[in-house]
Amino acid sequence: MSLLSVERLTKSFDGVRAVDDVSFELAAGQLLALIGPNGAGKSTCFNMINGQLRPSSGAIRLNGRDIAGMRPRDIWRLGVGRTFQIAATFNSMTVLENVQMARLSHERRIFDFFGRVAAWKESDALALLDLVGMAAHAHRSCGVLAYGDVKRVELAIALANAPKLLLMDEPTAGMAPQERRELMALTARLAKERDIGVLFTEHSMDVVFSHADKLIVLARGRLIAQGDADTVRSDPRVREVYLGTGASSAPRVDSSAGEST
Ligand code: ADP
Ligand code: MG
Repeated sequence: MSLLSVERLTKSFDGVRAVDDVSFELAAGQLLALIGPNGAGKSTCFNMINGQLRPSSGAIRLNGRDIAGMRPRDIWRLGVGRTFQIAATFNSMTVLENVQMARLSHERRIFDFFGRVAAWKESDALALLDLVGMAAHAHRSCGVLAYGDVKRVELAIALANAPKLLLMDEPTAGMAPQERRELMALTARLAKERDIGVLFTEHSMDVVFSHADKLIVLARGRLIAQGDADTVRSDPRVREVYLGTGASSAPRVDSSAGEST
């Protein structure tokens, strides 16, 4: 059984299908890249899987259990982690404190900060920081870290909850090419070591092709290709979308939606 099985997932906004009948599978230990031009529906897919958006239709199975429409914190409890936008408290705490706090959910972390905190043992948090190459920075304030290092801390925070599935929507946005490659190489290594399934989006095709085990390509909400790097790279529809030529740049005619975007 797949770790994640998405079946005929659809999300309409005002009759426009942002995600249209998308199905794919992700196994434990595998890195699956979700790629496609801006507006293809990638973030909408992520937000349905993490519970922030309720699907219009379709199923999202985590180890066989349908989680579609469940609340974000219930999905998180079932082992679906994600790299968060940085919390308000993040910059005022040290690297170590942030990881020690990571056992708490996003909402509770902010709420409980000045109250009683069920913090992680320092040694456990340090071991995790070592894993992402940030142990030497443990006692620095997160506010002074370089951008790429912040991303490593975010990864450690996500890993602190021992996710089975990790969702990373544009984890390397704003990073330099070398940092992108390093972060994804690290993610790939940890996914294999810990048997975590990773679903991620990434703009750099170089990074995607070197680290993803499998790719799925969305365009205008539809899955247009899937497979390994070679399969996807040589797919004529994918080339058309990425080269910006042909019908893909024209408005989609969607008779079921009654309008085009
Ligand atoms: P991507 O992440 O691939 O760039 P998105 O999933 O963010 O794409 O967006 C897919 C489409 O859905 C876009 O046309 C976008 O404008 C639309 N969309 C996304 N979120 C909403 C929303 N909350 N309300 C209305 N339309 C939305
Ligand atoms: Mg997006």
